[in-house]
Amino acid sequence: MDQENNIGQKTTWTPEKSELAMIEGILEGSPDGIGVAVIRLDCGCHKMAAIDKNGEPASKVIMYRDRAESICDKCKEDDGSFMRVTTQFIYWVSPEPDAGTKEMVQEKVLGIKTH
Ligand SMILES: [Zn+2]
Repeated sequence: MDQENNIGQKTTWTPEKSELAMIEGILEGSPDGIGVAVIRLDCGCHKMAAIDKNGEPASKVIMYRDRAESICDKCKEDDGSFMRVTTQFIYWVSPEPDAGTKEMVQEKVLGIKTH
């Protein structure tokens, strides 16, 4: 069960290099961010947004595609639908918040952001 849960406490996801560059850029522009929600879509596009300590968006939702000038046609159509999400996790800014905050934020964010 835990293994299948992408947002579970026991599963740690590591951002890819290209994602890390985006995360750093997003956090630079979002001083209130305590983390960044990273969503990977089945088409290869990514969706990201900084999150504040209340689980509210601390930045605009950013969508991008590696080595491409724009996101794919599918994403332009459905805005990166929740149905096509393959992986989603939150990259926490160090020092990471306590477990209770993380849980609250994860629930809130992955409900709001990934529709
Ligand atoms: Zn796409």
